[in-house]
Parts: sequence; structure tokens; C-alpha cells
Amino acid sequence: MATTTQLADLESFLQENPKIHYIAPSSPDYADARIVYNASRADNPLAIVQPQCHSDVCALIKYAKRKSLPFTLRVGGHNLEGRAVVEDALLIDLRALTGVTVAPDQKCATIQGGTLQGEVGNTLWAAGLGTPIGLIPSVGYAGWAVYGGYGPFSAHWGLGVDQIIAATVVNSDGEIIQADEALLEGIRGAGGLYGVILELVVKVYPISKILTGPIIFDSADIHKTFVRYNAEYRKLEAEGIPAEFVWSGMDLEEGQFWSRKIVSLGPVVMNAIAPTTVPEILANTGAHVPSRVYGSAFTHNVSIISSETAEAIGRGIAKLPKDPGTIISIHQLRGKSTKSHVASVFDARDPHFMLEILGFSKEAWAAGVAEDVSQASQHNVLPTGYISLYNSLLQADSPAAYLEKTYGSKVKVLKILKSRFDPENVFQLTVPTLK
Ligand SMILES: Cc1cc2nc3c(=O)[nH]c(=O)nc-3n(C[C@H](O)[C@H](O)[C@H](O)COP(=O)(O)OP(=O)(O)OC[C@H]3O[C@@H](n4cnc5c(N)ncnc54)[C@H](O)[C@@H]3O)c2cc1C
Repeated sequence: MATTTQLADLESFLQENPKIHYIAPSSPDYADARIVYNASRADNPLAIVQPQCHSDVCALIKYAKRKSLPFTLRVGGHNLEGRAVVEDALLIDLRALTGVTVAPDQKCATIQGGTLQGEVGNTLWAAGLGTPIGLIPSVGYAGWAVYGGYGPFSAHWGLGVDQIIAATVVNSDGEIIQADEALLEGIRGAGGLYGVILELVVKVYPISKILTGPIIFDSADIHKTFVRYNAEYRKLEAEGIPAEFVWSGMDLEEGQFWSRKIVSLGPVVMNAIAPTTVPEILANTGAHVPSRVYGSAFTHNVSIISSETAEAIGRGIAKLPKDPGTIISIHQLRGKSTKSHVASVFDARDPHFMLEILGFSKEAWAAGVAEDVSQASQHNVLPTGYISLYNSLLQADSPAAYLEKTYGSKVKVLKILKSRFDPENVFQLTVPTLK
């Protein structure tokens, strides 16, 4: 169907559903509403619709299915490839569907599908509670959690994906369903592949004290500083650095004890570790991250940062371009946080470090660092990479290889669940794509 006919058809559907907010391509709001974190994504969606309640989402999915209209879903817009916008596809923007409700027993909370991480962290903190989140407040919570969800609390409480205990979903028929155990297994790792996530129920934990802050090590010879830091950190790990680090335990004295050990791992020029709050941390990190950047990301999961891997990372940091979009960030999954008591299609369950190599503005630098790390770490690069960071262009010619790289041993389950819950591939433009 030609775009003009599709638009006319969509507009008559929206006249019957006037609560759904409509942004036509001719609207002055269109240019801003289609912006996502990755500014290289220049795609123009057919139009943008913003459902205001759950039944609006049902109506939209039924309509899209009836008309065979491709659509994308968007919350925080922080998919690193900007996959929430696709040329000529209808963009369903879920950002009006927000909210965090703590259960009376304070053991879990219901998070609406359009909620950003900032709202999750701030609301729970006000209730004396926490749950694993990432530190960028503008990232969508569901999009972060369902594909893995690494963050500073992951060592203590586990990955975001492992906190999910229930989900309410709009399925491929446009009906609201409570996810059964099979669908939950798929949502934990492959998120939007099977439906629109209206609500997630996640575990929450009491927390009233947190000790964290930046430590700046001398960067005159940053390569050497990093290699030394890593070698010393490995000794600290052998000593048994506690899971609460970033210190989210009640005993701040013990937290200070371990912080001093981290500070001693290299020549320090600034140590700002102090008792703080989750809202403060989110506000600080939010202020330092650009809202929109050009370029792309690379990642590796490595089982250990061996001396060879550290050398490669050190070489990369030494050449780090002076641009706020270029970062090497290292997340660690260790100890009991690697294990899960719930079924999921998230495959990377051995202890590992997830390397985020963000080459925004400076793609060639990031690609070079990723290649150097890969060459130097042949014995410790894990077979799967993190879907949220993995650069799909590396396997643009082979969707099968891409799936294998991001889901490993779970590809079969992923496909079985897809054929059961979305046999007609209504959710075809999601993360991940199957065809
Ligand atoms: C600056 C930055 C920092 C990051 N830091 C981390 C980090 O520390 N740890 C980490 O694990 N990840 C991190 N990420 C990756 C991020 O968590 C993922 O890209 C995440 O999927 C983004 O979610 P979003 O809602 O913001 O993105 P969007 O682009 O809006 O959504 C991406 C896709 O997720 C799916 N989706 C999202 N919400 C729903 C829903 N309610 N129902 C169904 N499908 C949905 C859809 O397929 C959608 O197209 C970071 C990304 C950026 C840009």
C-alpha cells in the first residue's frame, strides 16, 4: 500500500480512537518525536502514535495486524542502533504509559512498560527500596531489563532480566494476557519479540545506604595505570571483594574498607567516594551523557581481563578520542549474580566482564579497540555477545549468525516460543529480529 493510502487509512482508524495521540509526518512535532539516541538513524516513520492507556495499545496492534502494517515500539529510544525507528513503519511510542507501584509486602513492584529508569530508581528510593537498574535515567526500564540489564547493582542483586517475576503483555492478536512461564522465559532475554510489554513485576530490595562515587586515577600514562589497576583488582577479587560493591549494603564501615582497597589500586588524583542516594547518582550520570550522538557501539563478553586483554584495553584508552560519545565501560557479572533461579533465554551465564565500547562520533576507534581486544583475548572471549550492545552490522549478511552470536544455546528456545506466541511475526521489527 502506498504511504499516502496507509496514512489516510490510519487517520480514519484514529478518528475512531481519538484518545491515541497522533503525530503526522506533516506535524511540526514530527521531527523531534522521531529522534532517538543514535542520531545516525535517519529513518522517517510513517507516522507516530502515542497510546494513552492499555486499550489504545490493543487497538493499535489489532489495526496493524489487520492491515499488515509494520510497526516499531519506542520507549527511551536508547537502542544503540536506533532500531525503534524504521523507514515507513508506524512508530508506537509508549512513553505515556508510565508508573511504578510497590506491592504492599514491599517485595516486588509493578513497572509500566513506558517507564524510564530514572523514574524507577527515584520512586523506589523514596520507598526505601531498590532494584537493579542502569545509571542512565533516560533509558527505558523494560528495554534495559528484558534483554539482560547490566548495572552497578548487578553483582549484588543480579541482572535486570532475573528480577522479572511476572509480565502483562499485548499479544499478536492485540489481546492483553498475563505471561505464562513459557512466555516469561522468552521475555527474559528477548523482550519485545513476542508482544508489547505493558507491565513488568520485578523483585525489589530494602536499601537505605549506598556508598559510591568517581575515583580518578592519574592518566599521564593511562595505559600503564589501567594494566596495573587490572592486575591489582584481580588480586582483590581473589581476596573476595563482596557482592555489595558498588556498596549497597547497610554497613558503610565495611564499604569504606573495600573502597580504600579500590583506591589503592593505582595513583589517585581524585577520590569522591561518599555516602549518596540513587536519585543523586542518576542525576549526576544523566548530566554527563549526551542526549544524542552519531556512530555505533561494539562489545565483547570476556571471562577474565587477562594481562593481554588489559594491554589491549589500555592501548584503546590511551587513544580515546576527546569526545563525550566515546567510552569504554566495563560491567562485571560475578559470584551468585551470574546464576538465575528463573528460566530465561539470556545465555551468558558464566562469570564475565561485559565490555561496552561506544564509538559515538569515532566509530573507527571503537571498531579498532574491539578488534584488538578480540585478537588479544582469543582464549577468554565468550561465544555470545550482549544483544543490547552487539553491532548487528557485523553480521548484516547472516541473520542466523547474528542470532547465534547474541543468543547462543538459546536460539532454539527463542524460535519455538516465537512460533507459539507470534506465529505470523506481527512483532517483526523488534529487538531482536528473527527474519
Ligand atoms: C547511553 C547508553 C547507556 C547504556 N547503558 C547500559 C547499561 O549500563 N547496561 C545495559 O544493560 N544496557 C545499557 N544500554 C543499552 C540499553 O539498555 C538498551 O539499548 C535498551 O534496550 C534501551 O531501551 P529503550 O527503551 O531506551 O530503547 P528503545 O530504542 O526505545 O527500545 C528498543 C527496543 O526495545 C524493545 N522494547 C522496549 N520497551 C518495550 C516494551 N515496553 N515492550 C516491548 N518491547 C519493548 C523494542 O523492540 C524497542 O524497539 C545503554 C544504552 C545507551 C544508549
